[in-house]
Amino acid sequence: MPAKLILGTEIREQILEEITAEVAQIKEKHGVVPGLVTILVGENPASVSYVTLKIKTAHRVGFKEIQDSQPVDLSEQDLLALIDKYNKDDSIHGILVQLPLPKHIDEKKVLNAIDPDKDVDGFHPVNVGRLMIGGDEVKFPPCTPAGIQEMIVRAGVETSGAEVVVVGRSNIVGKPIANMMLQKGPGANSTVTVVHTRTKNMDEHCKRADILIVAAGVPGLVKPEWIKPGACVIDVGVNRVGEKISEKTGKKVAILKGDVDFDAAKEIAGWITPVPGGVGPMTITMLMKNTLKSLKFKLGLE
Ligand code: NAP
Repeated sequence: MPAKLILGTEIREQILEEITAEVAQIKEKHGVVPGLVTILVGENPASVSYVTLKIKTAHRVGFKEIQDSQPVDLSEQDLLALIDKYNKDDSIHGILVQLPLPKHIDEKKVLNAIDPDKDVDGFHPVNVGRLMIGGDEVKFPPCTPAGIQEMIVRAGVETSGAEVVVVGRSNIVGKPIANMMLQKGPGANSTVTVVHTRTKNMDEHCKRADILIVAAGVPGLVKPEWIKPGACVIDVGVNRVGEKISEKTGKKVAILKGDVDFDAAKEIAGWITPVPGGVGPMTITMLMKNTLKSLKFKLGLE
C-alpha cells in the first residue's frame, strides 16, 4: 500500500488557524498582539521572496509586522545598533535577521546580539543551550526542526522508543532535530542516530529507521532499498534540479527535488513528505508559533 502523505501545506493551514484564534483571544483580553520585525540587508532575490512570504503570513495571523529593509552597504555597527533598538522595543517580541548577510558583516556577531528572549529563529547560543537541556528550558526551538517534529506528531507517528535516523548534522536541521527527538517528553523519547559524510555503511543505519529524517541537500541520496517497510520518511532536502515553465503563471520556475527518491520510496514507506509541499511550508509557520510564544512568555501565559 502506498505511504500516507504528510503535507506541510495542510498542516500549515491548521496551525495558522490555531495561531490566528489565539492572537485574537490575547488581543481581546490583554490588548496586545505579537510583534515581529524582519531585518533585510540588501536585495538578494531569494531573501526578498522569503521575507515577503513571512510578512504575508504575519499579517494573516494578526501580528504587528515591521519590515526593516536596509541598503546592502549598511555597516555592521549600524546593524548592531538597529538590533539594540528592537531589543529595547516592548512592542516587538520576535527579531529576525534574514540570512545570508553581506560579506562585510560578521553573521555570528549579529545573531548573538539579538536578545535571546526575542530570538524566534532559535539560533542564539542561549537558545541552542536551552534546547539541549530540554523540557521547560526550551523557549524557541529552531523553526525547521520544530516543523518536522510537529509533522511527525500530527501524522500520529509513534516516536517513543522509535529508532530515528537523521541524515545530516547541520546546526539548523540535523543536530537540533536529533537533539529534539531524543529528549524526554511527548513527540520524542526516541533512540537517535545521526549519519553524515564520514559515516560507514550509511545504508545499514537508514534501514533500521522507524523514522528517517533526511537533510543532506543531495538529490536522490536515499535509495528506496534503504527504507524500512512502513517507516516514516521526512525529506527535508530542497534541491533545484532544473527549470520549467509554470502552468499557472507562464514564468520560469525551479524544478525542486528532495533527498529521497520519492516515487519509489512512497511504495515502501508508511508515511512520507513530498518535495515541494512537505517540510518547506512548516518553517515560516513555526516562526509564527515562536513569535506568539514569545508574547505569551512575556504575559506569563506560557
Ligand atoms: P548543510 O548545512 O549543507 O548540511 C548538510 C549535511 O548533510 C551535512 O552534515 C553533511 O555531512 C550531510 N551530507 C551531505 N552529503 C551527504 C552524503 N552524501 N552522505 C551523508 N551525509 C551527507 O545543509 P542544511 O542546511 O542542513 O540543509 C539540508 C537540506 O535541507 C538542503 O537541501 C536544504 O535546502 C534543505 N532545507 C530545507 C528547509 C525547509 O524546507 N524549510 C530548511 C532548511 C534546509 P558533513 O557534515 O559530513 O558535511
